[in-house]
Amino acid sequence: MDATQSLKSLLSNCTLPASEARILLAHVLEKHYQLPRSALLSRDDMVLSPAAQEDWQSLESRRIDGEPIAYLLGKKGFHDIELIVGPGVLIPRPETELLVDVVLSEIRKLTELPKPDKQGEPCKILDLGTGSGAIALAIAKSAPNALLIATDQSEDALNIAQLNAKELGLEHQVTFVQGSWYQPLDAAMRFDVIVSNPPYIANLDPHLSQGDLRFEPSSALTDFASGLTCLEVIISQADQYLTLGGLIAVEHGFDQSEPVIQLMSSAGLTDVEVHQDLAGHDRVTTGRRPA
Ligand code: GLN
Repeated sequence: MDATQSLKSLLSNCTLPASEARILLAHVLEKHYQLPRSALLSRDDMVLSPAAQEDWQSLESRRIDGEPIAYLLGKKGFHDIELIVGPGVLIPRPETELLVDVVLSEIRKLTELPKPDKQGEPCKILDLGTGSGAIALAIAKSAPNALLIATDQSEDALNIAQLNAKELGLEHQVTFVQGSWYQPLDAAMRFDVIVSNPPYIANLDPHLSQGDLRFEPSSALTDFASGLTCLEVIISQADQYLTLGGLIAVEHGFDQSEPVIQLMSSAGLTDVEVHQDLAGHDRVTTGRRPA
């Protein structure tokens, strides 16, 4: 590469889609020069230092090889927060923001209609398979009256989740525990809401070998079976850990609402409702432990 190329010519010589090239180059400018994204235009004749050029070239070629932008930047915006992400965790998806909104609306209802015996008590929320902590931390940020427990079986994921909690100043609201689904919990614990975005992609789904998914932890994406086995574990044990009238909200595939409704009915849950994401796909199903 010509070591004297300006930002303008780096961008015009790059084979990536222009929007992606700009995101990555803006990241280099921020990291090496603390410059804002607008410098791509206002200082387009600038020539990068050798270290910054090396960074740019490595980001460009890793992206050409398909690495997700979120892993290259090390961060991803989700709901009202920004999260640190890396190859040990699923990249938070925009459709999962629906799950957060469903839980926040339940918390609002619980807060507006406080039960006489529960006045002033915080809402207790359980997030199963928290990954980067995205769901638990987005809820904590928007609902300061909520207390959360978040589980994950992956130590790598919990390290990232804990780092995120610290960066966001939310450690006092969210407790992370290691283990599979409900396994690390005390049997006497009860929650007003259980929320989860478990791995629900079936093992033979071709999406697993396409795009960003190739780089994400497969245990966060697929159950290595029908896609429904984790949802089944989560839903079938929910009533043991929910308060009377408590809500469970799970994310699932666009074509899984029927079997998920079935699982909720078999588990004795009532008021089962399916919620659509912004693309109009069935994405979240909720049910309640009878009051
Ligand atoms: N929604 C993700 C996707 O389709 C999958 C996440 C999951 O399995 N929980 O890429």
